[in-house]
Amino acid sequence: MLKSSGVPQPGDLAACCPPEEERRRGALVRVECFQEIPCDPCHTACPTGAIGAFADINDIPAVDHALCTGCGVCIAACPGLAIFVVDESAPGETALVSLPYEFAPLPETGTRVALLDRGGEEIGRGEVRRVRNPRQFDRTAVITLAVPRELADEVRAFDFEGGESHDGR
Ligand code: SF4
Ligand code: SF4
Repeated sequence: MLKSSGVPQPGDLAACCPPEEERRRGALVRVECFQEIPCDPCHTACPTGAIGAFADINDIPAVDHALCTGCGVCIAACPGLAIFVVDESAPGETALVSLPYEFAPLPETGTRVALLDRGGEEIGRGEVRRVRNPRQFDRTAVITLAVPRELADEVRAFDFEGGESHDGR
């Protein structure tokens, strides 16, 4: 199903989610990369070793969530736009989702957005909380969205008035 649709299924995703007991610790990466391709910038970009060294360049990334600080550097480094950071640590009904964005214009902090799932379907509304686009990110901006907590592991793209419609992949 993943190969034909390009959309990962629950069985694929279970492998890249951190353990339930770790989720309240802070922002933690989700590496949604499931196909063997010759690519490893996620590992070389990660400053903590949370994305381990590849024995073979075609390996699927191995993540140690215990080492992840949620910095988001790997989001911009991934050419497949397959990495996200989810922060479920704050109390209340809101979680934060950081994702890659390669369209112009960039949204501004405070912009209300339509939240899209992995298939590009709208599933709710959220707000831009942070926009990072430093030179070292090489034109892949990292946008952090405030989303309803129950959608934290569903939201993987967004759309906003004045922005270019896309499905984030
Ligand atoms: S968010 Fe930061 S610490 Fe975590 S895997 Fe990515 S680069 Fe490494
Ligand atoms: S950089 Fe992205 S596409 Fe390449 S191996 Fe890492 S997660 Fe997969």
